[in-house]
Amino acid sequence: MILLSLVTSAALAGSSVSVKNLRMWQAPDHTRLVFDLSREVSHELFTLEGPHRIVVDLRGAALSGGLPELDFSGPYLRGIRHGTPKPGTLRIVLDLKRKVQPRTFVLKPNELYGHRLVIDLYDEAQARKAAIRPPKAKDRKLVIAIDAGHGGEDPGALGRRGTREKDITLAVASALKRYIDRDPDMKAVMVRTGDYYVSLRRRTAIARSQQADLFVSIHADAYPKRSVRGSSVYALSRRGASSEAARWLADKENAADLIGGVSLRDKEDLLAKVLWDLSMTKTISDSLELGQDVLSELRRVGSLHRTGVEQAGFAVLKSPDVPSLLVETAFISNPKEEKQLRSQRHRDKIAAAIYRGIRRYHDRKRPHAGVREYVVRKGDSLSMIALRYRVSIAALKRANNLRGDVVRIGQRLKIPRSGDRS
Ligand SMILES: [Zn+2]
Repeated sequence: MILLSLVTSAALAGSSVSVKNLRMWQAPDHTRLVFDLSREVSHELFTLEGPHRIVVDLRGAALSGGLPELDFSGPYLRGIRHGTPKPGTLRIVLDLKRKVQPRTFVLKPNELYGHRLVIDLYDEAQARKAAIRPPKAKDRKLVIAIDAGHGGEDPGALGRRGTREKDITLAVASALKRYIDRDPDMKAVMVRTGDYYVSLRRRTAIARSQQADLFVSIHADAYPKRSVRGSSVYALSRRGASSEAARWLADKENAADLIGGVSLRDKEDLLAKVLWDLSMTKTISDSLELGQDVLSELRRVGSLHRTGVEQAGFAVLKSPDVPSLLVETAFISNPKEEKQLRSQRHRDKIAAAIYRGIRRYHDRKRPHAGVREYVVRKGDSLSMIALRYRVSIAALKRANNLRGDVVRIGQRLKIPRSGDRS
């Protein structure tokens, strides 16, 4: 028996905590269980073998009503039981289909839920396998990672008619995927495919493991003033946000990651910082260009909240070498726009506009997509060729084992992908 975790909160003696409900979210790499509590609870978690199970003891807690019916068709859970091993302790037993790595933390109340206890069940071997990068194909399509914001325990912003941002983002993202996949030069990968939460860090990691060239995060905005409306597009800022509103929004979107149970700030190591600085300038300028293309298309299907691409410190945009955008499609807090966001026809229009923006960007950035070799002509110089293909001279030299800067007429040069910016 291994003691894995002990979380204590303020003195809990006396009145008892009631466990009011239990929700289950099934993600491809983990299962999340969320217990709704009347207030904070102190808990202990144990794993047991033969057969594999997880035991969670909640001190000073009692179940109000029974546990709800859950779907145990997923890979980890066989069933859930409860009991009272000693007076005042509620014991929850998770019967497992196989050994898993549990992780547990508590969540404070938000707009939709009160105090919660979260238990995540991970299959470590599977997670490791998923992190391995597939080999890069040579003449491949432009890969666009589409990130549907929020999900699972994190509903995102809420509309007055009960519309949840997490549902809108997934619907728009799915529509965008359909448009992109119809384009023979492009391929879309979805960061989130169902109703579950993915941490902001994990979102960029999934995009990178899929060899994404571009990253587009889909959201719907909310503001206390109901009349505020329109789409906006954000790129990452190096320091500070370009406006007060941008800073406010970035705080709000980044706060979602408390749902993942980890703080973003304490994890950045030195190497990551150095690499980040090196390639970030170029990536941000590409992101701004892409953002302008997307904005000019969004303008044709609805009003714009901001006419220029805003910049803020969104955690989800921090891939150092993948141009990344966050699109706030409309204001879910605006009654007219909430109604539009609920309509599949309108969501298709938004998705089509985002797709056309990406296509514009692609046409300008990769005019020679598919061309892998260049034959040097009279009057060419290495710097001109580099400029034409939007690659660095260093990358061009490295791809062709060149020592100097001189090229001769008729020489065949391999053109590295423009993603190789070093
Ligand atoms: Zn959002």
